[in-house]
Amino acid sequence: MKLILLGAPGAGKGTVAKLLTELDGSVQISTGDILRGAVAAGTKLGKQIESLMKSGDLVPDDLIMDIMAQRLQEPDCEQGFLLDGFPRTIPQAEALKSLLEKLGIELDMAVNLNLEREVILDRLTTRRTCSNADCQAIYNVKSNPPKQEGICDKCGCPVIQRDDETAEAISHRLETYNEKTAPLIGFYENEGLLLNVDAAGSSEAVLTAIGEKLGAR
Ligand code: AMP
Repeated sequence: MKLILLGAPGAGKGTVAKLLTELDGSVQISTGDILRGAVAAGTKLGKQIESLMKSGDLVPDDLIMDIMAQRLQEPDCEQGFLLDGFPRTIPQAEALKSLLEKLGIELDMAVNLNLEREVILDRLTTRRTCSNADCQAIYNVKSNPPKQEGICDKCGCPVIQRDDETAEAISHRLETYNEKTAPLIGFYENEGLLLNVDAAGSSEAVLTAIGEKLGAR
């Protein structure tokens, strides 16, 4: 399947994407994970974007499009892909549309995960992430803590609170989402690709809604 996952930070895009990869071998592509990997590795790109990311600002569209134009042409994308955190602005969505047309790739749909601001704030302040750039497993101190406090179940590295998950950075990320990313809902509605899903329920309920829509196409 070839899906875009839309929704505010904390709406559950990464969790849903991971579950979907298990269904048919589609690959999860998270621009946030790619960028955090670059910062952790101290690459030229990483140094350029570190402070933007820390404060919860978006990375410039042209940098993101360079990354994604390459990534979408890698062989593992042939089986399908789940775009998690991309596109994030109207110019990115327009550039993605041209890129996919050029590559002869058709999207199945854009899934918008709807969640109330209060729930999002609670989820983000209690979220913890594995510090290993190659793992980046997600935990939650309330609902899904690691078996051993502060240690990743998968790779044994320390589990941390991300720099951009302080109260101040979170509120900035949500403002950025409302201003720059929420307009994508209308964009994909116009394209006839939008599926709105209530993300307050279980991940399984979200998967079922996606499966039904895919089946109905
Ligand atoms: P995420 O893990 O998706 O919440 O992304 C974390 C941070 O990475 C964001 O707050 C942005 O600074 C940056 N980022 C991720 N994806 C994008 C994107 N598509 N466009 C611009 N910046 C992005």
